[in-house]
Order: sequence, then C-alpha cells, then structure tokens
Amino acid sequence: MTRQAFVAAATSALLIPQIEAAEARSKPISMLPASSTRRFAWTVDDGVSSSALKAYLDIAEGKNQHLTLFVTSSYPSWRNHSKQILRLIKAGKVQLGNHTVTHKDLTTTSSAVIRKELEGCHKFLLEEFDYDARPYFRPTYGSWNANLLKIAAELGYTAPVTWYGSLGDTGNPSQERIVQNANEWIANGRIVISHANRNKAPETMNQILNIIQTRKLHSVTLREAFGKNFK
Ligand SMILES: [Zn+2]
Repeated sequence: MTRQAFVAAATSALLIPQIEAAEARSKPISMLPASSTRRFAWTVDDGVSSSALKAYLDIAEGKNQHLTLFVTSSYPSWRNHSKQILRLIKAGKVQLGNHTVTHKDLTTTSSAVIRKELEGCHKFLLEEFDYDARPYFRPTYGSWNANLLKIAAELGYTAPVTWYGSLGDTGNPSQERIVQNANEWIANGRIVISHANRNKAPETMNQILNIIQTRKLHSVTLREAFGKNFK
C-alpha cells in the first residue's frame, strides 16, 4: 500500500475527512514558542480519578486557568464530566489531546496496536465531544520512538507533546512534594505535566495557583500557544 493510500484508508476508517499528510517530527515538543507574554502550558493527563479530574475542571472554570487535557478514553471520568468539559471547550478554557485508549507503552507494541490506541481515543473524542484533537497527542509514559511518531503522523497526529517539567504526581507523593515540584518546574515557556489520577488536597491546588500568580504567569492551552494551524 502506498503512503497516500494508507492515509486515505486510515482517515476514512475514522469517518473524518482526509487531511493533508504531514511529515512526522523528529522529536516531541516540550517547550512553547517564544512570546512577549509570560505563560506556560498546564497539561493534565489520564483521568483515572473522576474527582481528581473534577478538581482540575473547576480550576479551569473558576480560576481561569487554561488547561490541555490528555484524555485516556477508557477511564469513565471523561464521560462523567462531559457536560462541564463541553462547556469549558466552548469557553476556550480547555483543549483536549489524544492520550490513547488504554495507556499502553506504544514503544513496545505492534504498529497495529499503536493505530488502534490512537484511533480509538480519536473516535471517542469525536463521539463524546464532537472534538477533533489533532494534531496533539501525548505518548504514554513520555515514551516514544521514530515508529510511533511516524504512525501517529499518518493519522494526523503530527504534534507529539512531552513536557519540560512534572508535578511528579503519578505515584503517591506527599502533598508537600507536589508543591515543591510545582515550585521547581512551573516557569515561563514550559510545558508542565500533571495527572488527574489521585485527589490533591485543596490546599495543594491553592499553593500551585499561588506559585503561578506570584510568578506573574498564566496558563495557556497548546492551541493558544502554537496557533490553530500548527501541524
Ligand atoms: Zn499518561
């Protein structure tokens, strides 16, 4: 099968219009483009915990923090909060990105599984939110290789996004440690990763917001930072 025929087949399988095939990037993005405003991208992944996700959505809604949510579509929290998410998308406060269906490490699976994982999440976002997340996707565990970037690009996911710094909240760190990480990593121009997998204490969230405010930063979505036509 030629590359073009493959792209046509892949996109028609997704029931979405074919888009121009773009070359895969040689590596993921972890920083924002230079800007005259002080900003960073606050990204929130997975969604294992519905109540942890809700806390982030409330921050976007009530504290005017713009968030990019990397959705792992097999977790029910996304559907549980679909109304609020739709409202936040409309308000321009939330962007959705593809973070696969079941959160497998896509550097250790077959190419067929990579396609299935990215297409499955893509379809979920279209069906649940009428949302086309392309070109943004986040490789699970931040783990990537040339084959993953190539296959993702063939599906229109030409913007693999990792991160510059992490709140270190995948396991079960102390609340104090999460605030220390926020203090260390939230800074101008950076992409920062956090997770909606376990509840944070309200005080932890407040301290993170204080760090953002004290540094005269505001969080932006990736689309806001890179522009709509970024591929
Ligand atoms: Zn993840």
